[in-house]
Amino acid sequence: MAEGRFRGTAPRHHDARCGAQRDRVEYDGALGANAPQDDALHEECGVFGVWAPGRDVARLTYFGLMSLQHRGQESAGIAVGDGGTVMVRKELGLVSQVFTDADLAALPGQLAIGHVRYGTAGAKSWEAAQPHLSTINDVIIALAHNGTLVNTDELRRQLIDLGVNFLSNSDSEVAAKLIGYFTQRTSHLREGIRKTMELVRGGYAMALINEQALYAFRDPFGIRPLVLGYLPADDQSGQSGDGVVLKHAAAEGAADAQPDRAAAGAAGAAPNGAAHTLPDRVGGWIVASETCALDIVGATYVRDIRPGEILRISAEGLVSEQGVPAAPEAAECIFEQVYFARPDSLMGGKSVYACRYDMGRQLAREAPVEADMVIGVPDSGLPPAEGFARESGIPFGEGLIKNRYVARTFIQPTQELRARGVRMKLNPLRDNIAGKRLVVIDDSIVRGTTMVQLVHMLREAGAAEVHVRINSPEVTWPCFYGIDTDVQSQLISANKTPEEICAYIGADSLAFLSVEGLLACVPAIGESLADGAPDGAACPARGYCTACFTGVYPVAIPESFGRDKFMPGYDPCNLTQATTLPRDVITTKDRDRSWESAHRA
Ligand code: SF4
Repeated sequence: MAEGRFRGTAPRHHDARCGAQRDRVEYDGALGANAPQDDALHEECGVFGVWAPGRDVARLTYFGLMSLQHRGQESAGIAVGDGGTVMVRKELGLVSQVFTDADLAALPGQLAIGHVRYGTAGAKSWEAAQPHLSTINDVIIALAHNGTLVNTDELRRQLIDLGVNFLSNSDSEVAAKLIGYFTQRTSHLREGIRKTMELVRGGYAMALINEQALYAFRDPFGIRPLVLGYLPADDQSGQSGDGVVLKHAAAEGAADAQPDRAAAGAAGAAPNGAAHTLPDRVGGWIVASETCALDIVGATYVRDIRPGEILRISAEGLVSEQGVPAAPEAAECIFEQVYFARPDSLMGGKSVYACRYDMGRQLAREAPVEADMVIGVPDSGLPPAEGFARESGIPFGEGLIKNRYVARTFIQPTQELRARGVRMKLNPLRDNIAGKRLVVIDDSIVRGTTMVQLVHMLREAGAAEVHVRINSPEVTWPCFYGIDTDVQSQLISANKTPEEICAYIGADSLAFLSVEGLLACVPAIGESLADGAPDGAACPARGYCTACFTGVYPVAIPESFGRDKFMPGYDPCNLTQATTLPRDVITTKDRDRSWESAHRA
């Protein structure tokens, strides 16, 4: 069912436009009336899930969400299952603003999911906040989704025709209602999830609960991240209790499922790449967008949830099954390593910090420059700045101080304060930079507004020269899988050449990391796919999505969804009408009972 990945010749770094011409229009994408107020890429969401009877699951989820706050600041929510029902509390604002001690105490249960949101699809409203509760007759589920689905318009219409009500225009709510609808029709939640995974397209990592079980599942390409970890048994954590005894692989379960130890660890890998050894007892299971959320609750990383996999965690054990076939090649979002993920998280067995450090070293090799000091734009530009300094031999120094209490609050600044732009977030260290030739490292240039102000601010503070180096390639193409760049005209690299951008931001020189250079700094995903293929030809992108740099979209973008998002002259790879759904796809699928009878528990 999954679309095959486009296998044409991937555009290279300097002609990454699939034959497009850059329009020589006056670029106002950064400053126009409808321009976003914030010149940065934003992740859509962070998700967290816990199954741990006897533990304070709401509080564990709260701490997990605190560590994922960087992935979304618009809203936060927690849903708990207590064996009898599902309760949700969600609100606009930061995690610490949404939940008080009393709120958490009022959410008792054995399992929970949590969500922090930066909305890219759907309104910025309470109704669009997650987890989404779906109550269709006696089926109650709560869903937390990170990513974006590209084909939910028709699915929403069909559900409305079937009498399903919607509170928001969010794609995540469509997924929640689809799962609820199919579950109610088939009496099997796993079947509801599987049928939904068959229908929806795009990037998704989801955690879901009903009153008794936690589910976690990812799209067939594994675009958005999701990891599994375990809590230590109570006697190992200093608390009373016995923990959960792991079942052996021969335990009962669904026909193609692998209970507990096999399900959790069979193909898992410890951070060093070795097979992970699970203890005989665990205190519970955690799923999360990043490993930093495991660390904060004292959980141990086991492995990533696999593309297309469904994990079910309940009193019956941990069960893994392949919900839909994995794509021939993984396509994990490479921007996680560049910008989104926290540097203390692990991705593909390598720390994000180490990846960014290596990007800086590679950038120094690709775009050397004579200078007196290397500075990074906090926070994500700091590790590559250290790497650039190490490789180039130019001293690393601090040049910009970040105000951590302004950038990501929920309080909207006034127009006057907004006009101060980057100065709200960053202030130069004048003594350190005055009279120096600076290399300034940042993770990306999206619309260009921040970099214009930054270069101006550094010159004002006395910098003799400002050489900008970016530890990612040019962001030329919009993202449809969970990042807020869905209109190409907003992207400065789609409008200007690097030389024109350099002049626009007022720098002495500007260079971007190449696609090949970036890929060389991150661990290969699904290396086995390339085994036996000459020069790794079977896995040209090493298991990563690079669409925002190359225009090679791993998941087909329906014409109806994407055509008006591209500028004239740009020809993305994998814009298609192939995923158009039949009018009655939901009811047609409902008649297929084969999986249900094969997996009847
Ligand atoms: Fe990530 Fe870019 Fe792919 Fe979007 S298009 S999923 S930001 S690599």
